[in-house]
Amino acid sequence: MPELPEVETVRRGLQPVMEGERFAKVEARRRDLRWPLPKDFAARLEGKTIAGLGRRAKYLLADLSSGDVLVMHLGMSGSFRVLRDDKEAVPGNYHHERSKHLAHDHVIFHMGNGAIVAFNDPRRFGSMKLVPRAKLDQEPLLRALGPEPLGNEFDAAMLARACKGKKTSLKAALSDQKIVAGLGNIYVCEALHRARLSPRRRASTIATKSGAPNERAEKLVEAIKAVLADAIEAGGSSLRDHRRTDGELGLFQHNFRVYDRVGKPCPTPGCNGTIKRVVQTGRSTFFCPVCQK
Ligand SMILES: [Zn+2]
Repeated sequence: MPELPEVETVRRGLQPVMEGERFAKVEARRRDLRWPLPKDFAARLEGKTIAGLGRRAKYLLADLSSGDVLVMHLGMSGSFRVLRDDKEAVPGNYHHERSKHLAHDHVIFHMGNGAIVAFNDPRRFGSMKLVPRAKLDQEPLLRALGPEPLGNEFDAAMLARACKGKKTSLKAALSDQKIVAGLGNIYVCEALHRARLSPRRRASTIATKSGAPNERAEKLVEAIKAVLADAIEAGGSSLRDHRRTDGELGLFQHNFRVYDRVGKPCPTPGCNGTIKRVVQTGRSTFFCPVCQK
């Protein structure tokens, strides 16, 4: 499943062709993705201009001149392909094999500038929804989300407050979208390794009894922001290659320190540990038992 950095690189890849542009024509080749597409989906988009293309957690938000917001999610296997001036680009890095079958192009946006933006989703866990901008705050998909990890609101004080008294593991706390939005299995593992904190450590131990942040909370927030920023930067670099037409594996995954590296030596300087895998709340956790305490 794409995580926040992938969605952000997709947003940055789509921005130049979609922002400020008009939907000239919209083809909805199915009536549903994960859920049914909105009623009169194409008609509600055609002729409207995208004032801005934003992101909240793993949702792309296209702010339309009609007052609606088009809320899009890539699901498990969704991706966009951009065709413009006979060139094709697939913005973003995908950790899964990207489908090349045109049969899975379910929604096609024909933009006023001539660009074609195709949404391809073989497993159809992706979604598109139209929400009036005035009601975005109450939108069930977005309402319960915690702060953006790259935003100013997310800091050590905030994270410590959220973890105060929590008996769950740090891994589980960071994966909780109500505590911080958009972090998934990969970047939780990577951030904990950078912060040298064990994924099994109790979440409450990054805060004092009164909920103030300790040094661990500071290190953890710094690590989360750094790992996401690095991944976005690595993803962004692939956008320059406009000839890329398939879902080549993301560049950032060559930089994973622990994720999917079981049995490999720990990359922490001076550490002679070996990366281990354990299962926590049904998901694989990768970590170094030597330097992550
Ligand atoms: Zn180590």
